[in-house]
Amino acid sequence: MPSIFSRIISGEIPGQIVYRDELVTAFRDINPLAPVHILIVPNTEIATVDDVEAAHEAAMGRMFTAARQIARDLGISESGYRLIVNVKDDGGQEVYHVHMHLLGGKKLGRMLSSE
Ligand code: 5GP
Repeated sequence: MPSIFSRIISGEIPGQIVYRDELVTAFRDINPLAPVHILIVPNTEIATVDDVEAAHEAAMGRMFTAARQIARDLGISESGYRLIVNVKDDGGQEVYHVHMHLLGGKKLGRMLSSE
């Protein structure tokens, strides 16, 4: 069964898409944690970073160049932003389709709480 993100990429369910090319698609997170909260997702379904193989390197690299472009388009490239990739249970991954969070538009504070 396709992931929720594959269904957004295919247009089966709606998403606020901000960027799309032949390797990745980016759309607004449904539950934003910052003024800018974008998810950058490979068009090919890969469950977790633990499943990434050499054949995926082009898409993985494109996630970064897309992030740079989206940050510029949304006006946060000068103020800065954070890129996060959660992996599996301890990493807090909820959707098992690799994705990069692009967060910005405010000061994001420390990377992690000290708990
Ligand atoms: P994770 O915890 O897996 O790194 O992040 C999953 C993210 O996907 C969460 O920030 C969550 O808000 C977002 N999300 C879950 N379902 C949907 C959806 O249907 N549409 C969009 N745009 N975002 C979603």
